[in-house]
Amino acid sequence: MSNGCNIVLVLGDQLGEDNPALAASAPSRDRVLMIETRGEAGHVPSHKQRVALFLSAMRHRAQSLRNAGWTVDYIGLGDECPSLADGLLDAVDRYGASRVIMTEAGEWRVQAALLKACRDAGVDLQILDDPHFYMSRDDFAVWASGRKRLVMEHFYRAVRKRFGILMDEGKPVGGRWNFDRDNRGSFGRQGPENLPPPMRFEPDKQTVEVLEDVERHFPGHPGRTDHFGWPVTSDQADAALADFVAHRLPHFGEYQDAMWTGEPFLYHALISASLNLKLLNPRQCIEAAVRAWRDGRAPIQAVEGFVRQIVGWREFIRGVYWLHMPGYAESNDLGACRSLPSFYWDGDTDMNCLSEAIGQTLDYGYAHHIQRLMVTGNFALLAGVDPARVCEWYLAVYVDAVEWVELPNTLGMALHADGGIVGTKPYAASANYIRRMSNYCEGCRYRPDRRTGDEACPFNYLYWDFLARHRDRFRGNRRMTFPMRNLDRIPTDELTAIRGAADSFLKEM
Ligand code: FAD
Ligand code: SF4
Repeated sequence: MSNGCNIVLVLGDQLGEDNPALAASAPSRDRVLMIETRGEAGHVPSHKQRVALFLSAMRHRAQSLRNAGWTVDYIGLGDECPSLADGLLDAVDRYGASRVIMTEAGEWRVQAALLKACRDAGVDLQILDDPHFYMSRDDFAVWASGRKRLVMEHFYRAVRKRFGILMDEGKPVGGRWNFDRDNRGSFGRQGPENLPPPMRFEPDKQTVEVLEDVERHFPGHPGRTDHFGWPVTSDQADAALADFVAHRLPHFGEYQDAMWTGEPFLYHALISASLNLKLLNPRQCIEAAVRAWRDGRAPIQAVEGFVRQIVGWREFIRGVYWLHMPGYAESNDLGACRSLPSFYWDGDTDMNCLSEAIGQTLDYGYAHHIQRLMVTGNFALLAGVDPARVCEWYLAVYVDAVEWVELPNTLGMALHADGGIVGTKPYAASANYIRRMSNYCEGCRYRPDRRTGDEACPFNYLYWDFLARHRDRFRGNRRMTFPMRNLDRIPTDELTAIRGAADSFLKEM
C-alpha cells in the first residue's frame, strides 16, 4: 500500500547538485535511492579506475545528500543486487512508494530497462528532462528534422547563436567561427617544454575503500588502480577545471592534436569524466573559458577550440545518439568483422604509437582525443575490426566512457560504421599523420616512410589496403578524391605487394 513517499532514483552518472529529480522532491517525505550493481560495473570488462571513479563519486554524493538532510538508501556492491530495475522495484515495495522520480538516463539501455520494469510492475515513473545539456533531446530533433545531412559545424553555430556564446552583435568574436587551422600544432624535435602537471586528487578514506572493493570484486579487469587521482566530488571537479583554465587552456588549441611519448595529458582539460558524471556543468566550463579570454588570460583560438569541443562535439554526439538509438548500436556499414587484437587489452605490441596510447590508457584510463581517433581508432578502422568489439573496448577502458558519448565517437567518427552520419569521410590515415603529430615513430621498430618490406609501418600497408578494399564505395565521395587519386597512382606491382603485406599481417594479428 502506498504511504505517499516517492523514490528519487539517482543513477551513477547523475551526481550533480542540479539534478532536477531532487528539486522535484522533498527530503522530509521522499527517499533517494542509489544502486551499485555488478552488472553495471561489469557489463563490459571495465577498467578498474573507471569502476572506482563511478563508485567513489556515487558514495561521496550519497554522503553529501545525507548531510543535506536526505534519507538515502544506498545499495552497495556487497548487496549483490542483480540489476537497477530489481533494486528499484524492491525499494518501491519495501517503502510502499507511490511513485518513482528520476532524471532521464544517459544510456538508452538503462532507460528502456527501467521503463519496462516499472510498466510491467504498474509503478508510476516520472522522468524529467536532463537540464545538464544546452540542447535537450527534443531541441536536437527539431534542429535535425528536414536536414539531409547533420553537420556538426552547422549545429555548433546554431548553439552559439542561440546561447550567445563568443558572439558579438550576432557575429562570432574574433571574426571567425572556426580557428581549427591555428590548432594543428605539433611540438617540433625538442618536444613539449615545462608542461604544467595536471591537478590530481589523493584518494581519501572512502576512495581507498572503493579501490579495495574494486580489486576484490573485479580482479581480472583491465588497468591498474595505483595512479588513481580523478576528481570524485563537485568541489574537486571545480578545482580541476580552474587548474585547466589557469595553466593549460592558453595552449589547448595549438597543441590539441599533438602527441608525445610519456606525456599522456599535455594541455588537455581532463574534465570529460567529471562532465559525464555531472560533477561539472558545461555552462560552468564555457563561462570559465570565455572569462579567461575576456580577461586576456587565453587566446581566442584556444578558447574557441575548447568551446567547440563542449557545445559543438559533445552536444552533437549526444543528439546523434538519441536520434538514432537503438538501431545505431548495430551499425557496421563497412562490413568489418575481424576480432580485436589482444594487444588492445595489454599494450603488448611492437607498434610504438599503439603501445604508448594503450599503455597510458591502462595506467590512467585516459588517452586524449587524437590518440583515441588517429591511433587506436585508425588502426581498428584500417584493420577492419568488428565495430561491436571496438565499442566494447572503448566503453571499457576510459574513465569518461558512457555509451551516449562513446558510441557515436567510435562507430561514427573512428570507424565510419554509421554510413556517414557523424563524419562525411573516414578518418583513415597512414603513418605519415602519426609521424607528423608525435615523436612515436622515433622509438619504433617500423619505418613510417616505408609501405613494403620488413620494416614497413603496418599503418601504411593497411591504409592502402583499406582504400583499395573500399575503392567502389569511396570513389563517389568528393572528400575522398585526393586519397583515391593517390591510390590510383600506385603501380600495380607495388599495390599487389602492399595488399599481400596487409593480408599476411591481418592473418597473424
Ligand atoms: P579535451 O580534449 O580537453 O576536450 C574538452 C572536452 O570536450 C572534453 O572533456 C569533452 O567533454 C569534450 N569533447 C571533446 N571531444 C569530444 C567528442 N568527440 N565527443 C564528445 N565530447 C568531446 N568522450 C567521452 O567523454 N566519453 C567517451 O566514452 C568517449 N569515447 C570516445 C571514443 C572515441 C573512439 C573517440 C575518438 C573519442 C571519444 N571521446 C569520448 C571524446 C574525447 O576523446 C574525450 O572526450 C576527451 O579525450 C576527454 O579528454 P579531456 O577531458 O582531456 O578533453
Ligand atoms: Fe606507429 Fe608506424 Fe610510427 Fe611505428 S612507425 S610509431 S607503428 S606510425
